[in-house]
Amino acid sequence: TIILGLESSCDETAAALVTAEGKILAHRLATQEDAHRPYGGVVPEIAARAHVEALAPLVEAALADAELTLGDVDVIAATAGPGLIGGVMVGLVTGKALAHAAGKPLVAVNHLEGHALSPRLADPSLQFPYLLLLVSGGHCQLLHVRGPGDYARLATTIDDAAGEAFDKTAKLLGLGFPGGPAVEKAAAKGNPRAVPLPRPLLGTDDPHFSFAGLKSAVMRAAQSGQYNSEDIAASFQQAVVDCLIDRTRRALKASPGITALVVAGGVAANQAVRGALTALAGEFDLPFVAPPLWLCTDNAAMIAWAGAERYAAGLVDDLSIPARPRWPLDPDAEKARGAGV
Ligand code: ATP
Ligand code: MG
Ligand code: FE
Repeated sequence: TIILGLESSCDETAAALVTAEGKILAHRLATQEDAHRPYGGVVPEIAARAHVEALAPLVEAALADAELTLGDVDVIAATAGPGLIGGVMVGLVTGKALAHAAGKPLVAVNHLEGHALSPRLADPSLQFPYLLLLVSGGHCQLLHVRGPGDYARLATTIDDAAGEAFDKTAKLLGLGFPGGPAVEKAAAKGNPRAVPLPRPLLGTDDPHFSFAGLKSAVMRAAQSGQYNSEDIAASFQQAVVDCLIDRTRRALKASPGITALVVAGGVAANQAVRGALTALAGEFDLPFVAPPLWLCTDNAAMIAWAGAERYAAGLVDDLSIPARPRWPLDPDAEKARGAGV
């Protein structure tokens, strides 16, 4: 079984082909970073237009790389949300058109499920259920991953996502766009103990994350003129790591029966985060699983793989399925918080 995956929910356009056994036959990606850089963030209108231009050629290129034609593809998987609605629609409509033209089933994939299952593409021995720290540009959550479509959320952020905090810190320090890798690079040259910064919710009974107070403190430190940007970046990164570890440790204590500690999402590309999580998993005698860096940030291989897992579980979608700008993995937890779905 060969699955074609399409991704277009933010500023990466991507197409990939994977097999049901988890073999990556081809993966192509076009980033729009240059187009958004002058604005210091992703501009939805620019993103949607760029996805329209890039997607079809990427599908053709991926098929050519794998020496396949559309007729060889068994399942079409496309991101159907959450994300910037214009971009999501481009990918989903393209997926529907390909599915219709080829007479093949469509699997509408939740982008977060793509991140959540990507560690199983990287490591086929990883079994359900596992504790997942999902840290990306728009999300910061702890989830029990019990199977495709089966998630229980233990914690989420009450304000900013971790990746968002990296991006805002980079902007504030003038380190450039995208922010995460820029902050990590600057942090490598700084002292993580130079700047006193808060660790919101550290050690509390509250299970959730919070980064807004940290962001404000970074702003005050930058404006004080007392510190260089390398020291601020290093101290900020350390504060984020401390918060992620403390909250994850709390969740691990409340997670009997899990097979592994797993991280996914763009912030999982950060070496300080990976290193600290490796040590934390060791504390609990659990394996630590993290996808390779390119699978952490947005890509289509993870969407194709989520499509493979859902297809294997009998989860296919009607061509009438709509694109969703918001789409929580655990709708019950979202409702319980009164945040709407
Ligand atoms: P979501 O998946 O929540 O919809 P997204 O798709 O924009 O959001 P991802 O592509 O998964 O997010 O991740 C991008 C985020 O990861 C950005 O916020 C980026 O700054 C952050 N990031 C990428 N590399 C690193 C790094 N090395 N260190 C820290 N953060 C990083
Ligand atoms: Mg991006
Ligand atoms: Fe993402």
